[in-house]
Amino acid sequence: MKLKYPRLAGLVVGLALAGAAVVLGGCHGIPQGTAPAITTAGTAAGAVTLEATGAGLVKADARKTSFKIECARCGDESEVITIDTPVPGKPYTLDWGCPQCGHQQKIIIRAVSANPLLAK
Ligand SMILES: [Zn+2]
Repeated sequence: MKLKYPRLAGLVVGLALAGAAVVLGGCHGIPQGTAPAITTAGTAAGAVTLEATGAGLVKADARKTSFKIECARCGDESEVITIDTPVPGKPYTLDWGCPQCGHQQKIIIRAVSANPLLAK
C-alpha cells in the first residue's frame, strides 16, 4: 500500500493544476450554451424559475426540462438529459458518475415559483 502514496500525491498536484487552469479560464463549471437558471411559464404552479446545481440548463418549458452535465474534475460533458419539469418543493436530484474519470457529482434541478404570491 505504501507504494501507492507517491502516485496519489502526483495525482492530487495534477488535479490542483487542472483546477487552477479552469479558474483562470473563467469557467463557471457548466457546459457552453447552457444557463444556470431558466424561468418558464405555464406550469401547474404558474411561472417557475428552474435552477440547476452541478449542471447547466439547455431549455425548459412547462412539461420538460433539458440539461447537460460538465464533470467538475475532467470537464467531460454528458449528453443532453431530459426530465419532467420539477415542481416547487420537489427538486429533481441525480447522483451522476462521470463515464470518463468516475467523478461523482450531485445534480439538483430545483423549481422556484417566480410569482412571489405563490412562493410559499
Ligand atoms: Zn470526469
